[in-house]
Amino acid sequence: MLDYQAPRDLLKDKVILVTGAGDGIGREAALTYAAHGATVILLGRTSAKLEAVYDQIEAAGYPLPAIVPVDLKGATAAHYRGMAETFAQQFGRLDGVLFNAGLLGTLSPFEHIQEKEWDEVMQVNVKSEFLLTQALLPLLRQTAKTQGDASIVYTSSSVGRKGRAYWGTYAISKFAIEGMMEVLADELENTGVRVNTLNPGGTRTKMRASAFPAEDPMNLKTPADLMPLYLYLMGSDSRGKTGQTFVAQPK
Ligand code: NDP
Repeated sequence: MLDYQAPRDLLKDKVILVTGAGDGIGREAALTYAAHGATVILLGRTSAKLEAVYDQIEAAGYPLPAIVPVDLKGATAAHYRGMAETFAQQFGRLDGVLFNAGLLGTLSPFEHIQEKEWDEVMQVNVKSEFLLTQALLPLLRQTAKTQGDASIVYTSSSVGRKGRAYWGTYAISKFAIEGMMEVLADELENTGVRVNTLNPGGTRTKMRASAFPAEDPMNLKTPADLMPLYLYLMGSDSRGKTGQTFVAQPK
């Protein structure tokens, strides 16, 4: 899938929301979607990082993005509903959402998992995605009706399909995302809204470095290497593909 060649105007006129757009894979995806013509909504918790991405998009002459600073740890259903209303008023459409923001938490034996950390990781990796999806669905459905399709992409992990010792809450949260994707994809069949998960595999970011501190990052793929798959799933070439897990770096 990393050999997909996206046309330059793949996402022309589309509006795409990227969560965790200030750093790592999300930052690269936001820049790449903008380079392919999308108006990108940059959601993240650190305004300075989002502003830096905004400036880079503006300097490149791509469609001007929007910035939504929000901490997914504290946001409520009411915040997400307000956000969805603003997007509907401002853009009138939402062609895609990349749920990318994620929290690793502490890798530890199961018996040492702290309740507070369990709640935080589940809040950011699962509950916020559930609530935000719920709030955005009317706009996504409407866009699919008028434009022909819309795409929801959740970010999974290898430990979201096969549990691994010490990966604790993070692994369990990614299993939940795989489940949410399957339930929703089944429900949305024939609506034009496709729902899939993307497992990027080991990628050179801060999160990967904190999980594998002794590893040489130069041996890893960069976020930019993965972008063909991120583009494929967001653009209309993946129309009709739904309910699937896409693995960027199959073994
Ligand atoms: P990074 O840690 O580099 O980036 C994560 C992004 O999520 C950051 O922009 C961060 O914001 C944002 N974020 C974290 N917590 C919150 C929050 N409470 N509210 C809003 N935004 C938040 O991670 P990666 O780029 O490596 O990971 C991206 C996705 O890919 C994650 O879902 C991860 O689980 C998944 N993944 C990554 C792999 C890898 O090897 N890198 C492998 C498999 C899956 P800020 O910068 O402000 O902290």
